[in-house]
Amino acid sequence: MNRRSFAQSVGSAAILSAIPGSSALTQDAAASKAGKVMVIAAHPGDGMFTMGAVLAKQIEHGGAGGLRSLSLGERGAPKNIPVLEYGAMQRTATENATRLLGAEALFFDYPDAEIPFNEESSLRVCDAIRERQPEIVVTHWSGSWHKDHQNCHLIVRDAIFYAALETLARSRPAHAVSKIFYAENWEDAANFVPDTYIDIEPVYEKWLQACDFYPMWRGQTGFFRYNDYYSSLSIMRGCLCGFRHAVALMSDTNQRTQRLQSL
Ligand SMILES: [Zn+2]
Repeated sequence: MNRRSFAQSVGSAAILSAIPGSSALTQDAAASKAGKVMVIAAHPGDGMFTMGAVLAKQIEHGGAGGLRSLSLGERGAPKNIPVLEYGAMQRTATENATRLLGAEALFFDYPDAEIPFNEESSLRVCDAIRERQPEIVVTHWSGSWHKDHQNCHLIVRDAIFYAALETLARSRPAHAVSKIFYAENWEDAANFVPDTYIDIEPVYEKWLQACDFYPMWRGQTGFFRYNDYYSSLSIMRGCLCGFRHAVALMSDTNQRTQRLQSL
């Protein structure tokens, strides 16, 4: 792709200050009320590093939201920390990070590396969606090498379908999620094509502070430089859309259809 066509492709993306709740996506959605968002991740670090800035921005823009992690990510423990102890550290880090952002943190109890994609897990997430009634859900993209991330994507897709199904009787009434977005994650990079850019400058420093609660962010658990990667990524994405720092999301195929009277 040459420079002109790349600029044109970015130019056709939605450039947003925050994700509006139920109104149509436009190039200028600043006046729209920020929607209530639920971010659903396989592991707490994914939730905060790849979706936390959007969560913070929605809240800062008058919306609300929370982070759901399907596991504690406990098997990412470094050699000198027992797995269970590391899981508790991950939980505490997430509680501190979400408190800083004004969001809630909730956890499912699936074992890290063994998150199942089945009816039970899909219905549990369905129930969480019906309980909290988010307008927007952000989760993993499917193009991941990590089985937990792949399963999280599939679970959330089915959960959103079940949550909206009026004839599916659960303890709470049906709830339709208006928009689904997929987060940019170094482990989910296959065929990830962003089309929505969010200005995160007003919450950038707060989001960095939230991420810093995690030992993983500080490079204490492995080789990957989470801090450098995700802070640099926000600058790179900002360059492409005219913001100082930005998060790029990929919208679900089904919500890209525009229904217009004329162009
Ligand atoms: Zn993960």
